[in-house]
Amino acid sequence: MQRLPAILALFVFALGGGPAGAQAVGAAGSSVGAAAASQSAATAAGTRSIYGSVPCSTGSGPGPLCDTQPGMSERFKAESEAKRPASGMPANWTQPIAPFHIVGNIYYVGTAGLAAYLFTSPNGLVLLDGTLRETADQVERNIVTLGYRVGDVKILLNSHAHYDHAGGLRQLKQDTGAKLYASAGDRGALESGAPPSDTSYGLMAIPPVKVDRAVVDGEPVRLGSILLIPLITPGHTPGCTSWATTAFENGTPLRVMIPCSLTVAGNKLIGNKGYPGIVADFRRTFTRFRKLDADVVLPVHPELADVIGRGRRAASGSPDAFLMPGMLAKMVADAGKAFDAELEKQDDAAHQRSRY
Ligand SMILES: [Zn+2]
Repeated sequence: MQRLPAILALFVFALGGGPAGAQAVGAAGSSVGAAAASQSAATAAGTRSIYGSVPCSTGSGPGPLCDTQPGMSERFKAESEAKRPASGMPANWTQPIAPFHIVGNIYYVGTAGLAAYLFTSPNGLVLLDGTLRETADQVERNIVTLGYRVGDVKILLNSHAHYDHAGGLRQLKQDTGAKLYASAGDRGALESGAPPSDTSYGLMAIPPVKVDRAVVDGEPVRLGSILLIPLITPGHTPGCTSWATTAFENGTPLRVMIPCSLTVAGNKLIGNKGYPGIVADFRRTFTRFRKLDADVVLPVHPELADVIGRGRRAASGSPDAFLMPGMLAKMVADAGKAFDAELEKQDDAAHQRSRY
């Protein structure tokens, strides 16, 4: 482990970068905004497409890019580069929104419904998540609106290899010239365009993008004064990566957590041939998160912590808009309950099937 400033070293310790049992920071109270309780249609577990109730398009027509057949990524590559109509998705996923300041050196540059977080330093920018293929342009425009050049982005990071968070990465990598760092567990999905997990919605391909470096749990990614610590928190995808950092707001250090998605979201939990260890991974991730705490939680689906509303309140002078005591604990508890319910449901269904 490289040498860290004391405050960050403390946070790394709390994140479980040290030996087992060293996670000394307990989850705090339960005063949480109601927004955290609501799961979006996009991430709700169940049998519907994660685009919503619209059936998957299997080819060149409009609609979500889904395929239950192997070889999707090859076909994706062969298809026209023309932008695919984004019908069928939650409307706010493609809805533009002006970028805004969060805390410290962190800015929101995503769409109204899909987060992209920008970390700034005099040495360049780090961008976490690409949103959709169709909205990479919006992310680029938001970076420029903040007064930076697209080429100032030196490192691209990803929460996980799903089309709604990684779909824009290929364009963003091309346009910024940045290096893409991602977990070993999601590297294959990013580079092939095909997430491996068996799902109720089939395959939703990602524009394939080359990963330049694998991130390792607990080993910080640095750029100038930016220091981001990856926590590999698998389940939602095999390489789902949460990110932790410390932001300084008026000299006060704030523990910032960007948790990877914790929802089942259509993943098969029983007999998942593409991701056999999925249940154990989810359980380990919940156990790990229950020992963590954060002052600011920035989910990849912003409505889970009302990130957009908080941005509005912060802009209108509310200094504590992004302080979220208890938020992480609440999100993890809700996700754990939803996971248990979904596992039971899928288990029951499997038993029903085996009876006939
Ligand atoms: Zn996802």
